[in-house]
Amino acid sequence: MTYVVTDACIKCKYMDCVEVCPVDCFYEGDNMLVINPSECIDCGVCEPECPAEAILPDTESGLEQWLELNAKFSAEWPNITTKKDSPADADDFKGVDGKYDKYFSPEPGEGD
Ligand code: SF4
Ligand code: SF4
Repeated sequence: MTYVVTDACIKCKYMDCVEVCPVDCFYEGDNMLVINPSECIDCGVCEPECPAEAILPDTESGLEQWLELNAKFSAEWPNITTKKDSPADADDFKGVDGKYDKYFSPEPGEGD
C-alpha cells in the first residue's frame, strides 16, 4: 500500500505535505508533486495536511491512473522536502475538475 497524489494537486502545490513526510518521498514536477510508492511507508500523516485533498491511500478504488503516474514521475522528477511559496493563482485552481487533461506537465520542477 502507498499514498498517491492525484490531479487535484495540479497548479495548487501548496506543499504543506512535503514538510511532514518522515521519509522525504515527495518529488516535484513543473506544476504538481508526486509520491514515490516504493519509498512511502503508509504513515498517512500527509493526507490531512493537503488543503486540496489531493492525497489519497491507494486502497481507495479508481486510483490506478494516479498510482502509475506517481511511480513513473517520482523516478524522473527531483526530490522536494522543503515547502516553497505556492503559485499566486493556486486558489483559482482548487477543486477544478479535469486538471490532468488541461494542465498536466511532464516537465520536472526545481526540487530542493
Ligand atoms: S499539499 Fe496537496 S496540493 Fe499541495 S503540493 Fe502537497 S499534495 Fe499537492
Ligand atoms: S503517507 Fe507518510 S510516508 Fe507516505 S508520502 Fe505521506 S507522509 Fe510520506
